[in-house]
Amino acid sequence: MSRISFTTAAMPARKRIALVAHDHCKAFLLDWAERQRERLARHHLLATGTTGLLLGKRLEQPVESMISGPLGGDQQLGARIAERQVDILVFFWDPFEPQPHDPDVKALLRVAAVWNIPVACNESSADYLLGSALLEQAHEYRIPDYASYLASRQ
Ligand code: PGA
Repeated sequence: MSRISFTTAAMPARKRIALVAHDHCKAFLLDWAERQRERLARHHLLATGTTGLLLGKRLEQPVESMISGPLGGDQQLGARIAERQVDILVFFWDPFEPQPHDPDVKALLRVAAVWNIPVACNESSADYLLGSALLEQAHEYRIPDYASYLASRQ
C-alpha cells in the first residue's frame, strides 16, 4: 500500500473495549477497571484469555475472552481490530519485561495505529480515554479506505 487514502467510519455509542494486561500489570488493570466499573458496565468488553477471566470475576460483568495472549490471543484481538469489531484498546503492556510473544504485542499495537482506534497503555491514559466526552457518543473517525486501495489494484 504505497499511498493510503482515508474514509470515515462510524464509532458506536456503546463501545467495544479490548483489554489486555501482561502478567506483572494485571493487578494494575484490575484495580483500574474496578475504579471504572460504572463506565465499563455500559460497554462491551473483550480481552485476552487470562486478563478476561480475571476481569470477569472482578467486575462481575461478561467479558468476551480470546485465548491466552502468548497462545495467540493478541493476534485474535488484532484481527478483530482489522475487522473493525473493536473501538478502543486498553493495553497495559509491561515496560520492564521482554515477552515471549513480543512480535504479537507489536502487531497488536501496530494494527490499532493503522485503524486509528484510541489506545491507552497505562492507568493515566486509560483514565483520560474513559473520561472523554466521546466515550458515550456515536461519532465519526478516519480509517484507511480499503475499497479504494482494492480499486487501485485493478
Ligand atoms: P493473557 O494475555 O491475558 O492471556 O495473560 C495477555 C498477554 O500477555 O498478551
